[in-house]
Amino acid sequence: MQYDLLITNSSILPLASDSTELIPGGYLASIGEDIVAMGPMTELPANAKATTTIDGTGTLTMPGLINTHNHAAMTLFRGLADDLPLMAWLNNHIFPAEAKFVNHEMVYWCSKLASAEMIRSGTTCVADGYFYEDAAAQAFRDTGMRAVAAQAVVDFPAPGVPDPADNIAMVEEFINNWQDKESLITPAIFCHALYTCSPETLQKGKELARKRQVPFFIHLAETEFEVQESIKEHGLTPTRRLYQLDLLDQNTIAVHCVWLNKEDQQLLATTGTKVASCPGSNMKLASGIAPLAELEQQHVVIGLGTDGCASNNNLDLFAEMDLAGKLQKTKKLDPTLLPAPTILRMATSGGAKVLGLDEKIGCLAIGKKADCIILDLKGANLTPFYGANLLPSAATGYDVQTTIINGQVIMRDRKITYFDEMKTMTKVRELAREIKAPT
Ligand SMILES: [Zn+2]
Repeated sequence: MQYDLLITNSSILPLASDSTELIPGGYLASIGEDIVAMGPMTELPANAKATTTIDGTGTLTMPGLINTHNHAAMTLFRGLADDLPLMAWLNNHIFPAEAKFVNHEMVYWCSKLASAEMIRSGTTCVADGYFYEDAAAQAFRDTGMRAVAAQAVVDFPAPGVPDPADNIAMVEEFINNWQDKESLITPAIFCHALYTCSPETLQKGKELARKRQVPFFIHLAETEFEVQESIKEHGLTPTRRLYQLDLLDQNTIAVHCVWLNKEDQQLLATTGTKVASCPGSNMKLASGIAPLAELEQQHVVIGLGTDGCASNNNLDLFAEMDLAGKLQKTKKLDPTLLPAPTILRMATSGGAKVLGLDEKIGCLAIGKKADCIILDLKGANLTPFYGANLLPSAATGYDVQTTIINGQVIMRDRKITYFDEMKTMTKVRELAREIKAPT
């Protein structure tokens, strides 16, 4: 039997259901993009050969993590303005910095840097939303990253879109450039929020998303202030407003969803709207704690995201898993909420469902794309290793040894082999010097 890639002697964590059961001493094999065989080593065909064989002794192989919300190019703004509330952070720091420094070159190199950080910490698929998304999509393609790349829309002059009247037309052009079912890149639209886009823009954006069958992302109910302003101005919560504008459905991904009342939660559940939760960003900006346990009870599909790293300040989804679980337990004083299998599901198959990619990715199974990561279990923080339920609160991105996307080894033994990481960091350092001399 000839494979392209064969991982041997590794504990395999398929995560095909809510079970965290392992195949101890297992193997996983792929041909081209697809997983074609997996199981215990005792079942590996005696004549198995592979172009690339990875000895996985002392490791665990699991599905690659799926980051359902990021603004990758914001790596340039990491640490530029910290410890501020969302509106002051956005209006006084981020929007002015974006107006001055965001261009095609910046988005390309800074998204590439984000890819390096994500690949190093086990993310194999990211949903991104930013300006010059063409450059971001190119960066993801050049780094081997699977991505849902969404062109951002706001109703004021923005980087790459000087006249907001052109914003939806630019998204359509972006979709034309990238809509290709065989590609690792799925184009999408990201309407920033209800407070930055008019109802007409949102409806035009959603109409385009429906026509072209692409995901529609929007920040929703991130802060208490946003909800209070919406009620003051319109007599409705932001979620109810989106519902009345006919913007909620199975292809809408509502990001954050921190401030939802019971009725809002039901609206998301009954419309099949997906949720991308970013606990690290919500904590850093002190936005609050999303009601994930309640949404989970109502079978809302939930994925995890880092948000842009300027509001986090990292892109490590292992950290988000830890925060997501512990925040719910603390909020409700109930340690049984969001147990490890649920958290692992949110970061893998849940994320795949959020992005509409669950036929291809999200778990390890024959016929799925070979998006997987190999974790070193020999580190002090994972010793002893009684089982995978330990992972959300004990593992970190640094435990990821090898990252494989679409059957391609992108990082092996902590060395990114697919693109020049050093050159990427040098370029971003040059760009950063234009903003502020590093101390
Ligand atoms: Zn965001």
